[in-house]
Amino acid sequence: MGTRIEISQLVKVFGVGQAAARAVDGIDLTIEPGELFFLLGPSGCGKTTLLRMIAGFIDPTEGCIAFNGKDVTHAPPNKRNTGMVFQSYALWPHMTVAQNVAFGLNVRKITGEKQAQMVREALAAVQMDKYAERKPTQLSGGQQQRVALARAMVIKPDVLLLDEPLSNLDAKLRNDLRHEIRRICKSSGITTVYVTHDQKEALSMADRVALLRDGKVVQLGSPRELYRAPRSKFVAEFLGETNLIHARLAEPGTLTVEAGSFAAKIAPEYHTKTEQILVSVRPEATRLVPSGEPGALTGRLLETTYLGETAQHLVEVKGCPPIKIAELNPFGPSSTIHPEPGEPVGVVFDPNEVVPVEPN
Ligand code: ATP
Repeated sequence: MGTRIEISQLVKVFGVGQAAARAVDGIDLTIEPGELFFLLGPSGCGKTTLLRMIAGFIDPTEGCIAFNGKDVTHAPPNKRNTGMVFQSYALWPHMTVAQNVAFGLNVRKITGEKQAQMVREALAAVQMDKYAERKPTQLSGGQQQRVALARAMVIKPDVLLLDEPLSNLDAKLRNDLRHEIRRICKSSGITTVYVTHDQKEALSMADRVALLRDGKVVQLGSPRELYRAPRSKFVAEFLGETNLIHARLAEPGTLTVEAGSFAAKIAPEYHTKTEQILVSVRPEATRLVPSGEPGALTGRLLETTYLGETAQHLVEVKGCPPIKIAELNPFGPSSTIHPEPGEPVGVVFDPNEVVPVEPN
């Protein structure tokens, strides 16, 4: 059975008096057994501090952490049976790959054939069994990170903690390793907490994500929930490109900006609460159409950036910030309009994808 992590009212204050900073500011979270859970947020939001409190490297100021109901809040790291992988790999250069992986087993007095077997299995799981006798300096960054992962997994930890493990790697390797780390974590059933500031990493790998800001969780959910139903401007923008539009609620199902009105499926309670509303619409839920098409807002094309599989159009629409539109397969058979910059165009938002967000 995997490990459930329960975090309640967790606080970490660094410094005292005027200089005191609440790096983690009252976090409640339950991470389910076997879950691949992401702590995501901008630099300084407190994600590393939270991870280090789960690992036992930082002592919380208030609150508690329990593994399967057992309080570990102030237990030292070696009493928690966690495995950790850092951004910097932290392998010993004078030891071979196999010796690096065996390190945690030596500490636990697991030696001989049993140790050799466990090292072989851990290296096979990360597809590094062929490199057992090499030194870390003879490996690429991606290979070193696989070894670091094997070293963390070989002790069969109750909880695996990953601190920006891919940020030193190039884009292609990052992509490959994303899939592999997810596969390894899910097949082992180990509860995993993964820290990153890269939203693509979180969206592509996580079971659930907690988005942090100023030491607090601002939204918690599956990647799809966070991307498709952000509660605030901050969440909407952090998870990807979006159009943020201040509009007036007209009759139900319609929003108005200076350039005109457009259809939007907004829950009825908004109509009773407020007249002005901020909505987020993703560029891929926005279409470029001929100017004057019924239901479209009229604007003027500012620029088009051709990227091969997509094109990004930027359209000036009165009363809105420049509207971003992502077109898939531009100039393909279904791409019917190819305006030049400066020409009038129409903009259509998918009414089901217009999401009201808090302005902060
Ligand atoms: P990054 O992505 O840049 O690593 P982070 O989200 O992991 O950021 P933390 O490292 O947890 O953020 O830091 C949260 C806040 O706590 C920051 O404002 C940071 O300056 C502060 N902080 C972290 N460690 C200490 C420390 N040892 N002493 C004082 N302040 C600290």
